[in-house]
Amino acid sequence: MGLLALGTALEWPEAKKKAHQVRQWGIEQLLANWRRAKGKERDALLWGDEVEYLVVALDDQAKKARLSLAQADILESLARDEALWKAGSDTNGEHGDHVGEKPPHFHPEFGRFMLEATPGEPWGIGFKDLLKVESNMKWRREVAKAHMAPNESPITLTTFPRLGTKDDYIQPYYPHLVLHCAHNSGRKVELNVPVFKDQNTPSPFKDPTVNYDLHQWPEDADVRNGAAKDDHVYMDAMAFGMGSCCLQITFQAKNMTEGRKLYDQLSPLGPILLALTAATPIYKGFLVDTDVRWNQIGAAVDDRTPEELGEAPLKNDRWRIPKSRYASNSTYISQDPRLRKEYLDPDLVVDEDIKNRLIEEGMDAMLATHFAHLFIRDPLVIFSEDLKELDLNKGDHFENLQSTNWQHIRFKPPPSDKDDIGWRVEFRSMEIQITDFENAAFSIFIVLITRAILSFDLNLYIPIARTTENMQTAHTRNAVLDSKFYFRKDPFGRRAPRHATQHSTHGSTFSSATSSAVNTPPPSPPLGPVETEYELMTIAEIVNGCPDGFPGLIPLVESYLNSVNVDVETRCFLASYLDLIRKRADGTLWTGAKWIREFVAKHPSYKHDSVVSEEITYDLVKAVEEVTAKEGKNGSIGWELLRGRKN
Ligand code: ADP
Ligand code: MG
Ligand code: MG
Ligand code: MG
Ligand code: MG
Ligand code: MG
Repeated sequence: MGLLALGTALEWPEAKKKAHQVRQWGIEQLLANWRRAKGKERDALLWGDEVEYLVVALDDQAKKARLSLAQADILESLARDEALWKAGSDTNGEHGDHVGEKPPHFHPEFGRFMLEATPGEPWGIGFKDLLKVESNMKWRREVAKAHMAPNESPITLTTFPRLGTKDDYIQPYYPHLVLHCAHNSGRKVELNVPVFKDQNTPSPFKDPTVNYDLHQWPEDADVRNGAAKDDHVYMDAMAFGMGSCCLQITFQAKNMTEGRKLYDQLSPLGPILLALTAATPIYKGFLVDTDVRWNQIGAAVDDRTPEELGEAPLKNDRWRIPKSRYASNSTYISQDPRLRKEYLDPDLVVDEDIKNRLIEEGMDAMLATHFAHLFIRDPLVIFSEDLKELDLNKGDHFENLQSTNWQHIRFKPPPSDKDDIGWRVEFRSMEIQITDFENAAFSIFIVLITRAILSFDLNLYIPIARTTENMQTAHTRNAVLDSKFYFRKDPFGRRAPRHATQHSTHGSTFSSATSSAVNTPPPSPPLGPVETEYELMTIAEIVNGCPDGFPGLIPLVESYLNSVNVDVETRCFLASYLDLIRKRADGTLWTGAKWIREFVAKHPSYKHDSVVSEEITYDLVKAVEEVTAKEGKNGSIGWELLRGRKN
């Protein structure tokens, strides 16, 4: 999350006063860094994944599964593990399969019941590295497990099914929530997720876990004043959102221009991959009528005030803000001639002073707008030690805002203090998958898509407002099969004029110096209305293609693979991953959400009243643990688990 630092955090009223200074210093740090790094060239095409886990403890006697707040102990134990640090150079040790691989990195995450693991070093561009991802993910899981109590396991469910019920932790206290969102917005977190109405679910459904008689704090009145809505599961703490696990992929581009292009072209894919990876059908012990986590995190860290939300006239705040700071992107940043102004978000809020400052220093308006949009937010935590002096060789103030803008694509400038890291783009919408076979498959799929985007210069632009809508659509139960998403029809459409000149360098006849009527490509016909460029498609059409329409992401990836030299063995290996994506999209294989729903529905003790009891949760977690522990090479077993049972 990038929020963990040490120091004396300012109390809220003081922090509010200093917010402006942090923003200004952050922008000066950005400028210093941008001047230094904007000309960086030929950085390697590296990438890396992040896998997040829940630490779950099983009590086989009582048949209970609970979260374990063991993060700190596990990380300490990992740090002391000398055998692990030697693994990379160890030729005949117990890490035999991973000789030459750097040991994985483990990080803390928001919840003290969470862990994050990344590969020991970023993956390279070569196909051979793609073959290591799944086994490296399995290694991470084994190593993490080895540092837990015997009854604990790292589980890759997006949310713990009974988080927020009584007895959900093995230690009886709630994690300390460090963020200031509630202070800023002036109210408690308020999440209402529609309950899944099964045949015996009461109607109207009134969340039976809500205590209307609590009179301890002023906020306890919220529920009596209507915060808990009928037919919804009600949650009131940040952990319900930030305690969710996801799968993120970061790519390094060869230069800033390429990074900006990837940022734009990956943006329309965010909601599609969210629906494909859907894995979140349960909250607080109830089946819900949504399939993914995204909006719940957005609501959990939504610090907009009533004025910013448009519920009160603007007096103290500067503007209305349409989205939470955790939300889908609102900007495109590429200087791509194919980017039409109609694609831009008409509701974009920017800090004009910041934008002007960036432009005054030479940044182009497109990029300046992006950062001036991120900087409309307040810092969430300010450490007094950091306000003594502005250090332009650091990026702490910039990162304070940048890393608390949780959008589905993040544009990451090189770190101010490291010359060997380039411009990166992070793809952040995917849900964590139950098995490492699936996590590897989705990571590799996105990597191959970026290669296809760059290799074919694909044009996936649609209006940002449509991506915003798609993000909502992705929440629908079974959206992967039942919903349609806006997507661009022709990914080859409307070549950039630049393209003609690029080709001209290949042959003497097309030298740009001798450009004549003969050599100049015919003028393009005028652009039609933007609305004719895209249409509503099913995920199956987007992924597998439709006749006379969008060619399909998998066929595009296959053409890319055909155009490069891949040996047969590698191609077969990759085929099994692409097959998972293809079959997810056409319904042959189930999403995690669907599999969990079926597990609950078929459980002998389930009463068809939407309640996911402790017993069901125990059996579910046990099943998930078994399948990940037993999963063989290349997904055997895990693959079976996730196969739809209809065939
Ligand atoms: P954050 O949580 O801020 O997104 P992390 O450090 O947790 O960042 O994860 C970043 C991911 O990026 C890891 O998978 C890491 O291997 C990968 N990575 C690190 N350096 C590079 C690089 N230069 N290019 C691409 N990926 C990188
Ligand atoms: Mg993380
Ligand atoms: Mg991380
Ligand atoms: Mg992080
Ligand atoms: Mg990340
Ligand atoms: Mg504010």
